[in-house]
Amino acid sequence: MFIMNVDHPVSARMAVVRTLHHRAQVVCSTPEILKEEQEHLKMVLKLNDYPDWAIHKGSQIFQTKNNDQAANNNKEKKEFKGFIVIPYVKGLSEPYKRVMEKIGIQVSFKGGTTLKNMLCAPKDKDPKVKTQNIVYDIRCGEDSCTHRYIGETGRTLEERFTEHTNVFTSAIYQHATQTGHPIAKLEGDKVQILCKETNAVHRKIIEGMYIKLHNPELNRNIGKIDIPNIYEKALREEGALAIKH
Ligand SMILES: [Zn+2]
Repeated sequence: MFIMNVDHPVSARMAVVRTLHHRAQVVCSTPEILKEEQEHLKMVLKLNDYPDWAIHKGSQIFQTKNNDQAANNNKEKKEFKGFIVIPYVKGLSEPYKRVMEKIGIQVSFKGGTTLKNMLCAPKDKDPKVKTQNIVYDIRCGEDSCTHRYIGETGRTLEERFTEHTNVFTSAIYQHATQTGHPIAKLEGDKVQILCKETNAVHRKIIEGMYIKLHNPELNRNIGKIDIPNIYEKALREEGALAIKH
């Protein structure tokens, strides 16, 4: 669970709230779903000790910016009742835009934006095992076994892997002892970094998305943040967050 860091400047906290609202706006395809998602966001932020004023102010700032943008766009074109921005999905987005514009909702595409590249910063050049701030995937070392664990950490992959594989209460350790399957090698393909993200809030959201999509056998819970089903649908449609091995 992340805690609002009181040492963070107010602008950084506001940025987190704004980013989450922006993401909701991009992902949600109808005003109803967006409203539902905004309520969910408020709840998640509240659960994580964001004070009411921060939640409220953050969403207001986003709303104002968004309304200004919508107003400017509308001046140039015909009148619309609403405005949404969605990632471009080949073959899907154009017909969707036509339908939405018929009912008075203007649609803009974020060119080349997918949920995956919105959410995941490119991997850096640190050696895999020394990389920090990651969402990672550890598969069982037995080739025929599909069991895997998905987690996130602000520490290095090496430190977290050592805990998973040496602590007798860990699901990975227990699976290996119960089945006789080997534990995967840290340097091998079965242990991989799925995403690097220094923002702890975003990292936990990404972890939750991976867990929701892949339902890893060795995870005992849904991750630190439960992801609403609408994200799962959007992620599946985009083919985002696939795992290679
Ligand atoms: Zn196994």
